[in-house]
Amino acid sequence: MQYLSTRGQAPILDFKGATLAGLATDGGLYLPASWPQLSPETLEGLATASYAETAFTVMRPFVEGSLTDAELKTLIAAAYGNFGHAAVTPLVQLSDRHWLLELFHGPTLAFKDVALQLLGNFFGHFLGATDKLTIVGATSGDTGSAAIEAVAGRPGIVIHMLHPAGRVSEVQRRQMTTVAAPNVHNIAVDGSFDDCQALVKALFNDSAFRTEQSLSAVNSINWARLLAQIVYYVYAGVRLGAPHRQVSFSVPTGNFGDVFAGYAAYKMGLPIAKLVVATNVNDILARALNEGDYSVGTVAATATPSMDIQVSSNFERLLFDLHGRSGAALAAAMQGFEKSGKLALSAEQRAQASALFLAERVDETRMMQALQWAYGETGQLIDPHSAVGLAAARRRETELGGPIVTLATAHPAKFPDAVERASGFRPLLPRRVAHLFDRQERYDRLPADAEALKTYIRSKA
Ligand SMILES: *Cc1c(COP(=O)(O)O)cnc(C)c1O
Repeated sequence: MQYLSTRGQAPILDFKGATLAGLATDGGLYLPASWPQLSPETLEGLATASYAETAFTVMRPFVEGSLTDAELKTLIAAAYGNFGHAAVTPLVQLSDRHWLLELFHGPTLAFKDVALQLLGNFFGHFLGATDKLTIVGATSGDTGSAAIEAVAGRPGIVIHMLHPAGRVSEVQRRQMTTVAAPNVHNIAVDGSFDDCQALVKALFNDSAFRTEQSLSAVNSINWARLLAQIVYYVYAGVRLGAPHRQVSFSVPTGNFGDVFAGYAAYKMGLPIAKLVVATNVNDILARALNEGDYSVGTVAATATPSMDIQVSSNFERLLFDLHGRSGAALAAAMQGFEKSGKLALSAEQRAQASALFLAERVDETRMMQALQWAYGETGQLIDPHSAVGLAAARRRETELGGPIVTLATAHPAKFPDAVERASGFRPLLPRRVAHLFDRQERYDRLPADAEALKTYIRSKA
């Protein structure tokens, strides 16, 4: 399988190359050159397959040339062996038509583990004995802990995770700072999440430093993360009747990574009726898909911090298809967007997208109502992000075909305050992570200054 950049100017890479590169050198994102097909017979065969077997069948054509079948199986088994549920991503029925797909049974209780546990194994496998990789990332919560958990203790890899001091929840902070592995460095930055992101960008833009330290990124621009997420759409779809019945999914969306994995599953032949792009009040995606207005606003802080974004980096992957898969056309459009903060979708592009996607903006009141409905009517406690997805699914259910699956992206105990406010019930951390509050925290504090950060990173190399 070959991977090409959405902007058409970067070298074509194999799976290993695309995984280690993350971002393409022309500023674009890597995509497979074609979509492997899951035939109706294959989908039928997967109806009773385990998660690991499903993952193997879905991912195999994408890693061809970079991993043998035996290697892929071993990496999958290692990634999902320590999830807290034997089904890895269990389906839970809420009502006649509504289902939850629980994606939060990994080590840090958010869906990002599904991808990052596997990405950590890919990195470990692809790095040679003498190679080294320095991962630098910024987090407003979930990505940081999932990335740390994925690479802690791995030889050849050092991770530096920046978080805004005092601005992540205590559970989120402890999930990062109580990991004792010597290759993990947590940095509390005096500043906001945007300051943290700007620091990371400054480091990546310093090409001498980037080469000297072999910098790499783990955010959802990395194709391997999306690949891992295709699996659970297929896993849920075949359990609910695919290939003989269509299924719809509602996806709490921030960076458009998770929902793009659903688009990939559709392109591979999973009969998806609709993909609901559920946003909070930070609604750039809803405006883009409903009105053609992809323009940057200011970020409002909500009870769903993992969806508080200005720019959805993975939207570029859909835009590539909406620009006729022309790297040159998309590069021009993205350059315009980077200058003006605006990109308009034509009526034709919107019509093409709306054949599959349906976007819904959910404010805090409706998020709380969905959380209350789930708890009151079904006894299911869900987290605020999942509640955004459920609210959108219920509001738009007459437009959706087949059973409707809302992706539950975080465990309710990750956001106990918001859950308690809506339900009156304070969720407990699962026993396997209850140690969080006993363990010693370890982090350093730095000013929001790129030179100070470089000195710090060199001192830990
Ligand atoms: C990251 C995250 C999301 C958003 O996922 P994207 O792939 O960025 O769209 C939603 N919910 C939770 C809990 C998350 O951590």
